Formats: sequence, C-alpha cells, structure tokens
Amino acid sequence: MGKSEAMKGLEEKIKACKKCPLGELRTNAVPGSGSYDAKIMFVGEAPGYWEDQKGLPFVGRAGKVLDELLESVGLKREEVYITNVVKCRPPNNRDPMEEEIKACSPYLDKQIDIIRPKIIVPLGRYSMAYILNKFGFEAEPISKMHGKILEAGTLFGKVVIMPMYHPAVALYKPQLREELEKDFKKLKEVLESLS
Ligand code: SF4
Ligand code: URA
Repeated sequence: MGKSEAMKGLEEKIKACKKCPLGELRTNAVPGSGSYDAKIMFVGEAPGYWEDQKGLPFVGRAGKVLDELLESVGLKREEVYITNVVKCRPPNNRDPMEEEIKACSPYLDKQIDIIRPKIIVPLGRYSMAYILNKFGFEAEPISKMHGKILEAGTLFGKVVIMPMYHPAVALYKPQLREELEKDFKKLKEVLESLS
C-alpha cells in the first residue's frame, strides 16, 4: 500500500472514530493536513473551535502564528505535515486528558510510521510529553527543552525531535514569540543540514 492510500484510509478511520467521549462532542475530527512526504511533522495538542468547525488543524489564531513562523523561514504549509496528539476538540478547549491521549495517540503513531518524517516538532507540553516518552526521552519543563535537538532511532531510520512552545503562547507572551522565531530558524538549519 502506498503512503497516500494508507493515509487516506487512516483519515477515514479518524473521522468515524468514537474510541473516546470526545468523538460524541465534535463537529469534525481533525486528522491533519499537509504533505504525506513531509520532512517535518508538527504535532500540536488538540483541535480548538475553528479546527473543529473546519476539520483542519491550526486554522484559528494559533494557526495564524504558525503560518507566520513557517513563512519567516520560507517553509510552506503544503510541504510540511501538521497534526495533533488528540484529533477531536475537548470541550471549551480544555487540556486533553490522559485517557484521551491514550485512546487517540495510536493514530499519531501510525501517521509517523506512514510519513516517516526526518524531524518531529512537538508544539506545547502535552505533545512534547507524548513524543519524548514515545522515543524514550525524559521530559523536562518546556522552558528548558524547547529548541533542543534530540535524535532517536526508529524502524525507518533516524529522526530528530525538536520541541517548541505552542504557537498560542505567542499571542499573550511576546518574549516567547521571540523564542519561537529563534527555534524556527534553527529548525530550518537542521532541515538544510539533512537534505
Ligand atoms: Fe477517536 Fe481520538 Fe476523536 Fe477520541 S479524540 S474519538 S480517540 S479520534
Ligand atoms: N491548537 C492546537 O494544539 N492544535 C490545533 O490544531 C489548533 C490549536
């Protein structure tokens, strides 16, 4: 089975999923968007209001920040892949719960296996905690971990993990936006060093 077929099948499963209570509350599940051949995979936390309305990741205010950060280093949304640890919106945008992450994360695991990214960028602490744990790293506070380059071995080869602050923090903390901008510059350099 090719990548595209595998991803399309997975997206259909996610859209029909009722494995956790969020499945009953959503308008649309948000599987992810972007290139199935992406070298960089961004992993946010969970859909918010607009993502739930549109069925697409990062299309609200945090998404605008993410778009600006991508553009600042000459990356296009179409060439990366963007998804979340949890695919359905938690009520009132509360943090995802342990059980929801547990129920939903196998979809993310499959997406990683299909896309085989060279770099995974967890956005925010929930996604960072999940990804670091998955690849056998100890999570420290995101204030310490952001912008760090971690290397993990996978069945499909080496993957670089680079945790970053969640773009939503840039909306109310300008100094963290600067950190995000610096981390994106570094991300671009790592990408160039790999290709
Ligand atoms: Fe299924 Fe994930 Fe949605 Fe829960 S959040 S219903 S596990 S797709
Ligand atoms: N925040 C997230 O973590 N994910 C989205 O898709 C949108 C906002």
